[in-house]
Amino acid sequence: MSAIDSLPPLRDVIRTHDLQARKSMGQNFLLDLNLTAKIARQAGDLSGCDVLEVGPGPGGLTRGLLAEGARKVLAIEKDARCLPALADISAAYPGRLTVVEGDALAIDPLTQLNAPVRVVANLPYNVGTELLVRWLTPAVWPPFWESLTLMFQREVAERIVARPGSKAYGRLSILAQWRTEARIVMQLPPEAFTPPPKVASSVVHLTALPEPRYPADPQVLSKLVAAAFNQRRKMLRSALKGVAPDIEGALRMAGLHATDRAEQISLEGFCALARVIAER
Ligand code: SAM
Repeated sequence: MSAIDSLPPLRDVIRTHDLQARKSMGQNFLLDLNLTAKIARQAGDLSGCDVLEVGPGPGGLTRGLLAEGARKVLAIEKDARCLPALADISAAYPGRLTVVEGDALAIDPLTQLNAPVRVVANLPYNVGTELLVRWLTPAVWPPFWESLTLMFQREVAERIVARPGSKAYGRLSILAQWRTEARIVMQLPPEAFTPPPKVASSVVHLTALPEPRYPADPQVLSKLVAAAFNQRRKMLRSALKGVAPDIEGALRMAGLHATDRAEQISLEGFCALARVIAER
């Protein structure tokens, strides 16, 4: 482990502040500062950007983000035990780190951020997917963020980037790929974390597109995709029965087959069907 700043190594920070990881908080810490700096670099050039970090914990990734030149980091942490360690980082980077104690699902960070904003986080697994869906489905597009660089369980990361025809392809793939460019940029084995989780992890980088890839009403598309993948083994004509009247006619008009299953339908196909349903 090599130092990226003048602060103590993370193992010492954990010992000093007695930060034993708690499963209930989804805590699997990254203690290698080379690794956290590498994750921070996946977010692109941070100079001139505000960064929103969820779940800084003892601050390994936070230190990476600051050392990589983030203009300002706004970090939301639920576990009050981590605050003294984060205060030490704040003191080492005067005026550049603001820590908010609380639940990221209940806090609106927007008033404290200035564009351009990048979101970078080693997310607590229990809230990761919910936060991602919220960031992908704002009321207006483009969203408040330019990019999301997020750690997920590998299985979730694979769902985000999955293509039609694969088992992982589903609602998350459509929501992510409709309005972002999404790539897996790093793979991490369980041993990279303390304590090691049961599964491998991946970092996904999502860049917001200025406009969706294909026109569609977000609410219609969202409802359609949820219904289609809720019963992914069923043919579309049955899975989508309750979504709109004469679904077979709508499928035909969108150029789709009533006997296809959701996992065979491309993003373009779902958007075409959403347009037909909205127009009717
Ligand atoms: N970023 C640190 C790292 O990479 O070592 C910690 C990552 S750990 C996987 C997840 C962190 O999120 C923990 O610090 C945990 O306390 C925090 N956390 C859990 N639920 C949260 C929530 N709802 N809102 C904000 N932080 C949360």
